[in-house]
Amino acid sequence: MTGEKGEEDGEDVSWDLEDLTMEELSEGQAAARTLEDMLTLSSQALVQAEVEDLYDEVRQLGQGRFGRVMLVTHRQRGTPMALKLLSKASTTRQGFLYEFCVGLTLGSHPCIVATYGIGLETQACYGFLSEPALHGDLIALILPKRGLPETAAQLCVQQLASALEHIHSRGLVYRDLKPENVLVFEPGCRRVKLTDFGHTRPRGTLLRLAGPPIPYTAPELCSSARLPQGLPIQPSLDAWALGVLLFCLLTGYFPWDQPLPDQDPFYQDFLDWRASGKACDRPAPWVGLTPVADRLLAMLLDPRPRQRGPVGSVRAFLGQSWQETAGGPERARDEGEGPQ
Ligand code: ADP
Ligand code: MG
Repeated sequence: MTGEKGEEDGEDVSWDLEDLTMEELSEGQAAARTLEDMLTLSSQALVQAEVEDLYDEVRQLGQGRFGRVMLVTHRQRGTPMALKLLSKASTTRQGFLYEFCVGLTLGSHPCIVATYGIGLETQACYGFLSEPALHGDLIALILPKRGLPETAAQLCVQQLASALEHIHSRGLVYRDLKPENVLVFEPGCRRVKLTDFGHTRPRGTLLRLAGPPIPYTAPELCSSARLPQGLPIQPSLDAWALGVLLFCLLTGYFPWDQPLPDQDPFYQDFLDWRASGKACDRPAPWVGLTPVADRLLAMLLDPRPRQRGPVGSVRAFLGQSWQETAGGPERARDEGEGPQ
């Protein structure tokens, strides 16, 4: 599988699975304990009511794989809020409480959606409230084959890196970075916030890939199938996803469909280019990026998790040019799917 191929490419892709340090482990354990306490308290305080008893539904804000999100107003006060409803048919009480409590612990950061302390249980759903984003999510702004204007892309990754650093500082790994989970609060991405903590887990949690990988999945997670106990998750998973998202924002393409050498030609081309370092090996989707963007992406998209740059790496690159300006090389890749 992927690990073996990585070694053939000359990079030392041993995933350092055994070397989760004691400090990292205890960080994750402390986060898990905090969440367990909150979970117990929140479980006792769920409001048992139907949505229409408390709120007026205005419109649907979005629909994900697990949740439907409605814009509602408070019946008495008229306050607009986002209500995420998770069907009991597909979500356990524990799963819902976990997502709700993670949101509560993280929401004080300016680049993370604030979750309000009201958990709801209806006949059919669990629900919780958060601040509503009226400009939708990032996926609607990424133009296929073009991405975002560079200023917006830089503002976006700067804020996301800050949100992720906050999550990591709390001993957690976000694990679901993608444009659908980035909400836009001001046009031009001047204010964006991360949402959806359904996959967030304490650092060191042992996890295996449940379904097929997506472009944002880090390569070490793809090879976790080989590990009977699973991969101890690390913040470097989020750094990889931030690199993929940055690539999408700058180009309007995914860099690859799955980070599987041999099986995915775009990923294999990327590995070959990394190994040779020659301009002539530059894969077509990467044409149009500046050397500065190349360096940043090379750090975030290092297939070796321990060598990978942290999410905060983006800070040193802000304000420099990441996209070749008009008149620069034409983008050569005309096939494959864009990031939407
Ligand atoms: P899922 O867990 O199913 O992916 P999300 O929490 O990501 O659910 O919500 C699904 C979609 O709803 C998001 O992709 C986004 O478009 C929209 N959405 C979620 N939360 C809000 C919010 N607070 N304000 C506005 N839209 C939201
Ligand atoms: Mg989501």
